[in-house]
Amino acid sequence: PDTLTIKELADKMKVQPSAIIKKLFLQGKMYTVTQDITFEEAEEIALEYNIICELEEPVDLVAELLKEDEEDESLMIKRPPVVCVMGHVDHGKTSLLDAIRSTNVTSREAGGITQSIGASVVNINGRKITFLDTPGHEAFTAMRMRGAKSTDIAILVVAADDGVMPQTVEAINHARAAGIEIIVAINKIDKPSANVDKVKQELTEYELIPEDWGGSTIFVPVSAHSKEGIEQLLEMVLLTADVAEYKANPNRSARGIVIEASLDKGRGPVATVLVQKGTLHVGDSISIGSSFGKVRAMLDDKGNNVTEAGPSIPVEILGLNGVPNSGDTMLSFKDDKEARAASETFIAQDKARLIDESRKKLSLDGLFDQ
Ligand code: GDP
Ligand code: MG
Repeated sequence: PDTLTIKELADKMKVQPSAIIKKLFLQGKMYTVTQDITFEEAEEIALEYNIICELEEPVDLVAELLKEDEEDESLMIKRPPVVCVMGHVDHGKTSLLDAIRSTNVTSREAGGITQSIGASVVNINGRKITFLDTPGHEAFTAMRMRGAKSTDIAILVVAADDGVMPQTVEAINHARAAGIEIIVAINKIDKPSANVDKVKQELTEYELIPEDWGGSTIFVPVSAHSKEGIEQLLEMVLLTADVAEYKANPNRSARGIVIEASLDKGRGPVATVLVQKGTLHVGDSISIGSSFGKVRAMLDDKGNNVTEAGPSIPVEILGLNGVPNSGDTMLSFKDDKEARAASETFIAQDKARLIDESRKKLSLDGLFDQ
């Protein structure tokens, strides 16, 4: 892209290629019509004709594809909040998620063990909350690198008997960088050594100040073991969502983000996608990065077959021709052809990047050889 042939330059300048070749020849440079010249050389030649050269910005087709279109506010309606649980190791992230799910009776009705799809939907007072299973910071780093945001609210778990630890601080920084609301869950209050006030005190150093201390952060003392405080925590999540007014238009082509994906022996590529906008239907043509396909089947977090999924709903989808990466954006299209074209754009970008990297490597190798 930063070179062109003499012929291309001549065409752009609307002169005969032979005229340019002659000029170069007089400078002692032998060129043919189809030979590449650099931008700097083209610039010099063009100047002699009083023409200023400008480098064209290459069109980033992938960026074009991923660009979010303007949303019409009037078409947007409330969607469930998407929540992740973060915190220091052993402070009770997994236990808390388990406690939240078991509080949610409807998801347990058959008593069967459903395989985790990486996200789950909890019903509370007739409202939904979507929980991502992946530890918050892992999900963030993968997704933030792609400029995508998947989470609205982070529940920061801090063990009442241990207090603020290095990964607690890391979690705070990640959530802040991603612009996510933080709700503090002080866990393990059933323990005799629990000290809630000490945790509150320690967190003030990170500008997380409880409301009863004049701040604006919600703190909920909980026990994943005794389930104390779990309901209140969920109510606080809904309250936070009400204040923030998370919205999306369910009546448009679906767009979402991959939570996790793998190759299943029997079912082929399987991806859990969090729908973020629009509604995804069985039969829709979709692309996710370099993969594409028609949605053959969708399963919800309880393992039930579903035919559609709206904003903030995670679904496992079958029918892709490859395994995408977590953090990849899912786009849905009018037909197969468009979905395939989108994936080809991604493949082309990947190739270009690989070539670019190998070029850089070559030139570095060249340097060290000398
Ligand atoms: P994670 O590493 O943050 O996912 O923490 P886990 O959920 O694996 O919990 C670490 C340990 O703390 C386990 O032994 C849990 O049983 C224990 N634990 C978690 N929550 C509580 C709680 O509320 N009370 C008590 N006493 N122990 C807890
Ligand atoms: Mg865990």
